[in-house]
Amino acid sequence: MTTFHSTRSTTDSLTSKQAIRKGIADDGGLFVTDSLGETHVDIASLAGKSYQQIAFDVLSVLLPDYTEAELKECIDEAYGPQWSDEKITPVKPLGDDYVMELFNGPTSAFKDVALQILPRFMARTTPADGDADEKIMIVTATSGDTGKAALAGFADAAGTGITVFYPEGKVSQVQELQMTTQSGSNVNVCAVKGNFDDAQSAVKRIFGDKELAGRLADDSHVVLSSANSINVGRLVPQVVYYFSAYAQLLERQVINVGDEVEFVVPTGNFGDILAGYYAKLLGLPVKHLVVASDKNNVLFDFLTSGTYNRQRPFFQTISPSMDILISSNLERMLYYMSDKDTRLISMLMNDLSQWGAYEVPEPMMKKIRSIFGTGWADENQVREMIADCWNKNHYVIDPHTACGYYVMQQMPRDPLTPRVLLSTASPYKFPRVVNESLGLDASGTDFECMDVLAKATGTTAPAALRGLETANVRFDNVVEIDGMEGFVEQAAKAL
Ligand SMILES: *Cc1c(COP(=O)(O)O)cnc(C)c1O
Repeated sequence: MTTFHSTRSTTDSLTSKQAIRKGIADDGGLFVTDSLGETHVDIASLAGKSYQQIAFDVLSVLLPDYTEAELKECIDEAYGPQWSDEKITPVKPLGDDYVMELFNGPTSAFKDVALQILPRFMARTTPADGDADEKIMIVTATSGDTGKAALAGFADAAGTGITVFYPEGKVSQVQELQMTTQSGSNVNVCAVKGNFDDAQSAVKRIFGDKELAGRLADDSHVVLSSANSINVGRLVPQVVYYFSAYAQLLERQVINVGDEVEFVVPTGNFGDILAGYYAKLLGLPVKHLVVASDKNNVLFDFLTSGTYNRQRPFFQTISPSMDILISSNLERMLYYMSDKDTRLISMLMNDLSQWGAYEVPEPMMKKIRSIFGTGWADENQVREMIADCWNKNHYVIDPHTACGYYVMQQMPRDPLTPRVLLSTASPYKFPRVVNESLGLDASGTDFECMDVLAKATGTTAPAALRGLETANVRFDNVVEIDGMEGFVEQAAKAL
């Protein structure tokens, strides 16, 4: 029986449905299952399967308490015509390497992969104890992309509401408009005076506030849950595209069944790359997973030194979705790498909250380094790489993908091991930076930049992004960090 408990203790024993409904454990840890890796996904039968079939194979291993019919419904609804490519996450050649596009969903960011299906997972869970009227309020802090993808996924989803906070002035014009124009009667959007980590920490405090939970339950029949990548239901759909990449490389006859592949992953909260590690535990032949960071290179420092230290300057960069000092999902990797040592994880996370840092024992670091490579790019390098990738491959990448592209260029290339760069956002989400990097006119609005980019590169802006120029702005709320809780309570009352 697959049950879930916190990374910090083994007292809980939840089904995957319960873990998805709850989001985060009471002790602040993340839900994990000790049976991960016991059942493998059959890689010999991958070639020729559709994304939806692969999703079924993978998700039925990871979420065994969903029925076959439930999983199929969720998959069909989530990976349908709202995607502009029928492969969902197509793999394309990029010079001697490959790029897997994760941005062909409705909001043009890779987070759609998970957030199109998470609301469907949640809709098939039931309240833990009795209150049949119970509704779920998703509360999320976003560094830009999660917010819109979550809003799009949860808008008007039965039994749920969603409240999204984003750091004021720290997301692009397009990203902000994507959120503030969101339709749906159950959606709430609010800017926060602070950076992403401040907002994320405040959301974590809101989740931990027992008095608030009591008031929400009594006054509004509302329980809070998370759509951040700390939610199991957000993480596991991302495991699927690693298998899809493998299937596509098999179909292209780049590899044979059993050959190893390497993935380079633009990383922030460690959700995307952690899914690659889960794929490896499920039997996918993954040689290395390479963590690519931007100037906020806390993960690079951790992987090279063994000390995770969040006490450092925070840089607001041109890759905002990777501007993170506390990489939440790292905790899950540490859990598995420590041979499931909840005491150690609990101690490390305590050190992090008390001292702002923790140190991982060297033998464990050695194990981690045998799988995870690392590198980072500063903002000049990101700009140079956007130009380099266009000049060499006639392929336009966004600033997040460019961090990965840079790190990939720096790594020695083993001709026997194909490398797949995960592309996490459409360049049209960041048209100004892309135009500047390509030496194109970037003097106008983001929308004028999109038109210039389209003309110069012969590519097309996703219609949903280009259409934002004339969309109706519904939300203009701004709160201080300590006003976030009150905002959530108001939103819950209105649900
Ligand atoms: C969220 C995001 C990332 C980082 O992914 P994590 O799962 O947080 O590591 C990278 N690029 C883009 C465009 C994103 O939206």
